[in-house]
Amino acid sequence: QAKAAGRRTIKLFDAGMQRQADRRLLIHNQLRHALGNNELLLHYQPQHMVDSGELIGVEALLRWHPPGHSMISPAEFIPIAEETDLIIDIGQWVLLEACHQFVRWEEEGVRLPQLSVNVSAKQFHHQRFVEHIHEVLSATGMEPSALNLEITESVVLGNTEDAIHKMSELKQLGINFSIDDFGTGYSSLGYLKRLPVDELKIDRSFIQDIPHDVSNMAIVEAVMAMARHLGFNVTAEGVETRQQLEFLRKQNCSFYQGFLASKPLSAEHMQRYALRYLPAELPHEGTL
Ligand code: C2E
Ligand code: MG
Ligand code: MG
Ligand code: MG
Repeated sequence: QAKAAGRRTIKLFDAGMQRQADRRLLIHNQLRHALGNNELLLHYQPQHMVDSGELIGVEALLRWHPPGHSMISPAEFIPIAEETDLIIDIGQWVLLEACHQFVRWEEEGVRLPQLSVNVSAKQFHHQRFVEHIHEVLSATGMEPSALNLEITESVVLGNTEDAIHKMSELKQLGINFSIDDFGTGYSSLGYLKRLPVDELKIDRSFIQDIPHDVSNMAIVEAVMAMARHLGFNVTAEGVETRQQLEFLRKQNCSFYQGFLASKPLSAEHMQRYALRYLPAELPHEGTL
């Protein structure tokens, strides 16, 4: 009987593994055509000041709707794209599209202070990454000081010297850097003082159970204290409740994003959202 149960367990396990492998393969094969078929698009999540509520920027987030399928999450397909060089083309498309959109908004009178774009480790360490950034800036007319690149601890962990070198080069153009998902990596904290980083983004997993999870509150407090001493801004990710925002206010956390303010929005919806939050444009000269 035990033997039969064991066999059944192994069989179920195999079937699950097989399904997972099939899905990965399917995603990989379809993702290759996603760019050319216009199946990728960007949504934008607003970022606000904790104390005043002022809109201080947006984060571009990738979305994929394969024809005949439901939406596939970037949390699932980005790691698959990272296993191949697909992430290079996808990452470059994201940068170009996000900067284009930001400049288009500007032309329509919606002047956001900042645009944040996620950059994967493989994309960052690609030999032509800095060149790619130059190409995007000149193709779009994007103001480099309004561009913020979000990298994870793994970027630094993989190749610290390359990271410092490239970041310093881009920093000279005026580009800003955030460490995304801060606290979820395994890196030592020693690298932080060597990097030209402007901001830490505290991962959502540390925010979500506040005010019930006392350890998470202690972690956020410790990150805030460290950031203050090292001169970094802090953005809290995944803020969903008033209580969480209140806790962050008491911690002097500068910025937040999360469903409490808004889910990621289409470019069109983001533009309407921004119009409600930004100071109204002055009337034209003739009417003054
Ligand atoms: P991330 O960069 O940490 O982005 C934040 C994620 O948290 C987004 O998920 C966002 O929709 C979600 N989020 C924001 N506020 C809340 C909240 O209050 N509650 C909850 N439950 N979730 C919230 P999304 O869009 O599914 O993206 C997942 C991850 O995929 C991103 O995490 C990022 O690591 C990666 N990703 C997304 N777009 C890109 C991209 O263009 N390039 C690269 N390399 N990675 C990307
Ligand atoms: Mg991010
Ligand atoms: Mg993040
Ligand atoms: Mg995160």
